[in-house]
Amino acid sequence: MSSAASMETLVSLCKRRGFIYQSSEIYGGLASAWDYGPMGVELKNRVQNFWWREMTQLHDDIVGLDASILMHPRVWEASGHVENFTDPLVDCKKCKQRFRADQIPAENMISHKCPECGGELTDPRQFNLMFKTHIGPVESEGSVVYLRPETAQGIYVNFKNVVQTARMRIPFGIAQVGKAFRNEITTKNFIFRTCEFEQMEMQFFIHPSDDQKYFEQWKQERFDFYKRMGIRESRLRFHQHGPDELAHYAKIAFDIQYEFPFGWKELEGIHNRTDYDLRRHMEYSKKDLTYLDDLREGERYIPYVIETSAGLTRTVLTVLADAYDEDEVEGEKRVVMRLHPELAPITVGVFPLVKKDGLAEMAREIERDLRHEYATFYDQGGAIGRRYRRQDEIGTPFGVTVDYQSKEDRTVTLRYRDSMEQVRVPIAQLSETIRRAVREYRRPT
Ligand code: ATP
Repeated sequence: MSSAASMETLVSLCKRRGFIYQSSEIYGGLASAWDYGPMGVELKNRVQNFWWREMTQLHDDIVGLDASILMHPRVWEASGHVENFTDPLVDCKKCKQRFRADQIPAENMISHKCPECGGELTDPRQFNLMFKTHIGPVESEGSVVYLRPETAQGIYVNFKNVVQTARMRIPFGIAQVGKAFRNEITTKNFIFRTCEFEQMEMQFFIHPSDDQKYFEQWKQERFDFYKRMGIRESRLRFHQHGPDELAHYAKIAFDIQYEFPFGWKELEGIHNRTDYDLRRHMEYSKKDLTYLDDLREGERYIPYVIETSAGLTRTVLTVLADAYDEDEVEGEKRVVMRLHPELAPITVGVFPLVKKDGLAEMAREIERDLRHEYATFYDQGGAIGRRYRRQDEIGTPFGVTVDYQSKEDRTVTLRYRDSMEQVRVPIAQLSETIRRAVREYRRPT
């Protein structure tokens, strides 16, 4: 029953309904930069909260952190980013387009022919993806700072602080959500790959001998997370990195991929980063980052790290693409976003059947009551069917309609977005009924 959305459909719905706009649109837009509108910011915050709750609140061995974007420049030397965080870049001498050499067909690289126009390609040159800027008024080498290309390093440099002040004992994790920046050569596919994006990362510190065990555990937990968020399992799969794909810090890496309208692509990476980062920070900072394990008879070691690294903005795209559906109501096409109720920007729409005879006032009162617990929206304009359709399009899972009967027996109609089923519910039980429906939500297959 589900219809896959094309990217054009999705981009246009996102614009029309206030999810995502092109950045600086009135100036012609900035390539690959996007702004989250009133619906989009709610959705993004809810995806973030869903992850945060899952990773911190539901795990007593994980704590949170919010490190700054600008860090000491030595951090990026230690991490290997200054040296290794590069992509091979080729230019077409004819059409002037720019490509990542590893993202165009091998035969084009061999023949030096542009995949778009057949023109001659330059030799590949390494291009560092980090954005460089300066602190202070003088642009000297000594004032260079980078916009962080990953949030992970903020966690590693705070490892000791967290051990000492939060009294965490291995195995434990540190979770963080924040902006990251990469000067990507090719940005396309809407918010899939952008230069400015947000990551949701968790670094799990372990004894080196436990790496296989925790790698398997986190791989599975992260896969199940997307299912709990309502993403269809048939569109999720693992992809193991081959030797030529492995990042400079990784011993083993799996991606969780999603089947986007433009094909299977990475959504999250799970990496065994070994002791690479902590060891390098020890070398570069000359600080002791070893861990004294009193549960292992006082053994002192540099912990290994299992990293789970997801893109927040990429998850938003996944959620939107996965939720999009079309069906037919009374001979008319209905666009419905089957968002998990915990992610939907608005949880309950409240509507008076008509404005007069005190129904509007009654509906307003119900909406004001519900807003303490749910994100609500009051709408009294137009035919009731049209009002439902507007909410379906932004994924509002519940609609409450106040009619003449409501005045007599203080019941209302509760409409479910997915099934369009309508049931009568006493106003006094509305809140609890919705709460239960959110908890028991299953996406129709
Ligand atoms: P790629 O090889 O596709 O450039 P990557 O493997 O380097 O990506 P990671 O460094 O593992 O990506 O980043 C972890 C996660 O951060 C990715 O799974 C993705 O969800 C997100 N991410 C990375 N780069 C971007 C980007 N440019 N725009 C949006 N999200 C991104």
